[in-house]
Order: sequence, then structure tokens, then C-alpha cells
Amino acid sequence: MSNNLEISRKKIRELDKKILSLIKERLDVAKRIGDTKKKNGLSPINLKVEKKVVDNSLQMGKTIGLNEEFSKKIINMLISESLKVQGIISEGRSKYLYGVFEKAREMMSKGDKLIRLEIGEPNFQSPTPVKEAAKKALTTNEKIGYVSSVGIKELREAVANKVNQTYKLEITPNHVLITPGGKFGVFASILTTVSEVNRLLLIEPYWPVYEECAILARTRIDRIHTVLDNGWKIDVEKIKEAFDTGTKLLILCNPSNPTGNIIPEDELKSIVELANDNNVTILTDEVYDAYTFKPFRSILETSCENYIYIQSFSKRYGMTGWRVGYAISSPETIKKMQKIMQISATCVPEFIQKAAIEALEIDDATLAMFSETIKKRVEIASKELDDSPLSYKKPDGGMYIFPRVNIEKFNSQDFALKLLSDQKVAVSPGQAFGDYPRHFRISLGGSEEDIKEGIHRIVKMIEKWQDM
Ligand code: PLP
Repeated sequence: MSNNLEISRKKIRELDKKILSLIKERLDVAKRIGDTKKKNGLSPINLKVEKKVVDNSLQMGKTIGLNEEFSKKIINMLISESLKVQGIISEGRSKYLYGVFEKAREMMSKGDKLIRLEIGEPNFQSPTPVKEAAKKALTTNEKIGYVSSVGIKELREAVANKVNQTYKLEITPNHVLITPGGKFGVFASILTTVSEVNRLLLIEPYWPVYEECAILARTRIDRIHTVLDNGWKIDVEKIKEAFDTGTKLLILCNPSNPTGNIIPEDELKSIVELANDNNVTILTDEVYDAYTFKPFRSILETSCENYIYIQSFSKRYGMTGWRVGYAISSPETIKKMQKIMQISATCVPEFIQKAAIEALEIDDATLAMFSETIKKRVEIASKELDDSPLSYKKPDGGMYIFPRVNIEKFNSQDFALKLLSDQKVAVSPGQAFGDYPRHFRISLGGSEEDIKEGIHRIVKMIEKWQDM
């Protein structure tokens, strides 16, 4: 028996050697393909070709009796490694976003007076009844202890009621997870949905946190580039092409950070139909839905079968620092996401959740004031931009504008740093949101005066930029 065992072990070692040398050979071929594409100015990624590679492997795996998930895992790993040898690496773009943010903070700590147009935070005061509710919960509770990691029942019920009322649904508290802000909801959704076996699809420009979470989850990231000249329209054919390669999760930010684009109803309907047909989950981040200046449709109003809806109290109620938001999905998905809460943040503090219940009670007229304020700022910013050499699309919603500088080879990152040091204005470079070196993001979270004066200084600097 021990002889037979030794023979089998030797066989395994020989097979491993063969597998590894075949992988090396595959990577060498991939490198040659990458070099040829570069030489001929071809796009490094061709989803149609990839689909053939994936289909071929899955078919082969099936024929020889391999588990499909395993075949997928292996082929996706081989494709990812091939992209690496071709120099295509997802590095994560948050460094561009937080780089300017940190530098601005440092300058302010040294006494500089800055105009902050990079912060994604409305300067609204949290409503007084919300503060009162937190105070009451803090002083009347005997113990400030742990609570359930899925969220307290009263808040999950209040969220379910609110959502059911707004969208005429019938969700239960089991469909709701209370999270420390929308950002944690995004993080938990991505970590529970995808891994190195799957593919995730992003619509460029995107909030860089999605990409960073996807990198953490080691999933393959596909991207669809959208452009200003086409009104940031999403090409549904391209989504179909991406889905053909086996997308597991599509992320939509609606209204968009950074463009302010709202996905039109017919476009959203086509995307949802495609997702349903291909068994794709849509992660829909609607944290800016309180600021909409055009008709807006939530994913909750569509026939989407698999979704994770992300919402937050941050922007809607001027509660960024409270760190409370929620996710809505199937009870099975919510349970998986709850596990991430259990092993990390544990729970959102009870007194914060009690305050959030109070926030849900605030009437729509009071909330409309926030939206009106942002809308007014959009008008002010647009007026300034209309008189400038910049191109932009007036946002349909959200609290940002993503203009383009019409100078060839413009580098937004260099510009943002120089603007900060010379003009004391902070903006977010376009590279933070995808391949947009000629764009930058202006936040409308600050005062009207700051927005006006900030854009004025930006335009002054751009007019000089070509000669610098
Ligand atoms: N989603 C988008 C697109 C955002 O821009 C932000 C914050 O800037 C969030 C989610 C999360 O906000 P919070 O974690 O404060 O709820």
C-alpha cells in the first residue's frame, strides 16, 4: 500500500510541474498578445474574445467532468494573471480622491483658508428632532450596550414601512440591514457577492470606493466608459457584451457621483431586463436620491429580481457624521451581509438608530428644503461655468458637477494640486473616477459664495494653464 501511495504522490508532483509549466507558457503567450496589441494601438481588453476563451474552458471542463464553479475560478484566475503580465492592473483610484482631501486638511491645520469644493458632504445641520432623539436615548437607556448586528427591530420596521409607502412594496424587516453609513453597505454587498471566481461591472465614471472594495474581494473588474459628449448615456449593448462574459454584479450609482446623471427610465428598464435574463445582481447606490431635479426612478420601482439597494441618512438628512444607513435585499443576502457586520463593526450604536427612526418621521416638505438648496447651487455653478471655457452637463440630481477642460493632455491630478497650493481651492481630480484626466469634480456641498468664488478661481487658473 505504501508503495502505491508513493507512486500516486510522485504522479501528483509531476502533474503539478506540468500544470505550472503550462501556466508559464500561457502567460508568455498572453504577454506576446499584449505587446502586439500595444504596438498596433488596439484596446488591451476585448470582451468578445474573452467570452470565447471562457466558453471554451467551461465547455472543456464540462466534457471532462469538472465542477463548473471550479472551471470558472481557474479560467478567471488565468485571465487575471494574463492581464497582469500585460501591465493591466487595477490599482484603485481612491488615492486621487483622498490625496487632495488630506492635503487640504493639512494646509488648513497650518492656518490656510481654503475653499473646499472636493468634499462630498452637504453643509446641512442635522435636524433638531434627530439630535433630541439621540440625547433622549443616551440619557434614558440604562446601559449603552451591544445591539443586534442586523439593526434594532424598530428601525428595521420603520425603514420597511417607509420604503413600502414610497414604492408600494411589501418588504419586511428581514429585508433590511442597518449599516454604519451607505459606504459600509457597499463594502458588505461587494464582499458577500463576488470573489475571484466572478466578475463585477462598473460604469465609468464611478465612485472609487466601489473599485477599491472589488479589489479587496479580488474579483475581476470590467468597466464601461461613458462620455460627456454623449450626455453620460450608458450603452446598453456594451452591458450586454459584458454580461456575456459572466458578470455577477453590476454597480449603478443613481443619481451619479460624480456626474449627477440620472439613469432615464427606459434605460434603467433595459438594464434590469438584461440583468434578470443573465442572473446578474444589481447593486444600486441611491444615496443621492433626495437631490433630484428631473424624474427619477428607483430600482425598487422596477421588476429587478436580484438587487441590493443602498441608502443612507448622511446626505438626505444632513447626518454624515452619524454613520447610519441601510441596505435592502433578499433575506438570504441580508443574512450574509449581516455576517460582515458581526465580524467587524458589530452594530450601529442603539442611540444612533433611535435618532434615525426620528429622521424617518421628518416630513417631505422639510426635506425638500435640502434639495431646493442644492438645486439653487447647481444653478449658481452652471451660470459660472456657462461663462467659462469648460464643457459640462448640468446635473439631473446629486450634488456634484464633473466638467471637462478642453486642453489636450490636461492632467487633472497635477491641476488639482496646483490649484490647491496657488489658488487655495480644493477639487477632486477626474482620475479618481476612472479614465478622465481632463475632468474634475466640483462638490456643491458648500456655501453659494464658496461655489461662486471657487469656480471663478478655477477658471482663472485654467485660462493661464496652457502657458504654464
Ligand atoms: N455612495 C456614494 C456614491 C457616495 O458618494 C457616498 C459618500 O460620499 C456614499 C455612498 C456613502 O455615504 P455614507 O457612508 O456617509 O452614507
